[in-house]
Amino acid sequence: MAENVSLHHKVIILGSGPAGLTAALYAARANLAPLVIEGMRPGGQLTITTDVENFPGFPEGIMGPELMERMKQQAERFGARFEFIAVSKVNLEQQPFVITDDSESHTADALIIATGAESKWLGLESEQKLIGYGVSSCATCDGFFFQDKEVVVVGGGDAALEEANFLSRFATKVTLIHRRDQLRASKILQDRARKNEKIHFLWDTVIEEVYGEPTADKGVTGVRLRNLKTSEVSDFPCDGVFVAIGHVPNTVVFHGQLDTDESGYLLTVSGSTKTKIPGVFACGDAVDKVYRQAITAAGTGCMAAIDAEKFLESQK
Ligand code: NAP
Repeated sequence: MAENVSLHHKVIILGSGPAGLTAALYAARANLAPLVIEGMRPGGQLTITTDVENFPGFPEGIMGPELMERMKQQAERFGARFEFIAVSKVNLEQQPFVITDDSESHTADALIIATGAESKWLGLESEQKLIGYGVSSCATCDGFFFQDKEVVVVGGGDAALEEANFLSRFATKVTLIHRRDQLRASKILQDRARKNEKIHFLWDTVIEEVYGEPTADKGVTGVRLRNLKTSEVSDFPCDGVFVAIGHVPNTVVFHGQLDTDESGYLLTVSGSTKTKIPGVFACGDAVDKVYRQAITAAGTGCMAAIDAEKFLESQK
């Protein structure tokens, strides 16, 4: 087995989505030479979307992977370094903090957590194949592409109803597919959706397969449904499938060391990115279950770098 090498850094940033890369840019420009540990999905969730049209500064839109690559290059230009390490353990009980994988230990005076969140998916092979080709988990990101089309939304919580309402601005018809006959969404969102003439409901129903081809000119063409009460199976034509069945923050490695809410989102001191451990900061979707936008993640990434810089200054 390889010898366990220890490398020290002023700042380590865990995660390389918009929050991590913006933190890297700011920390690098503060001369802190941050190390960015890229995580399991370098570039984060934006690397699985196609066009991003709501990130300011790109009037023609930009592809998600390209936006992330540009952010990375910008941080590198000022001295941020990147490594792919499968982090197996994080020790925040001692200072400097220790981040470990099988063969290396990295230590840091300050740690910025930007590990993001993952959308929950239905888990169908056909669904995974069509992500970015009509299957999406973000109406705010992709709704605009469904102008005058018919879409379905899966889920019965606040997110599903918000997505359905948002999509009704573009689509001619939005069908909400829920596995039960009762919504768990807040009353106000339920009332709004029920009053919306474009939104239709299919109760006690699940999607068994998504039909279509992963090509720009074809994409999703429909879904196969199963009614859980009658077991009836039917085909339902549609152009888009929005899965809104919840998110999971990537925070398991911090459990027991940092405070989280009941869903696992990291808790920070209001108005800052400070966690309960001095020198450990958290930003982006690992903290945020409300906005979840690239631009808001980038904003909190900037805050985390500034908070880390102030912390390091105060330690001198
Ligand atoms: P959620 O409240 O956990 O709802 C998830 C929904 O997806 C539930 O209706 C659930 O069905 C369904 N579901 C879960 N797994 C499924 C599967 N495998 N197949 C089919 N359906 C499945 O999640 P959320 O809507 O993302 O909301 C998360 C949190 O953020 C909540 O606290 C919510 O209040 C908050 N939020 C608030 C707002 C707002 O206030 N404007 C907006 C978005 C989110 P069951 O009902 O049968 O369990």
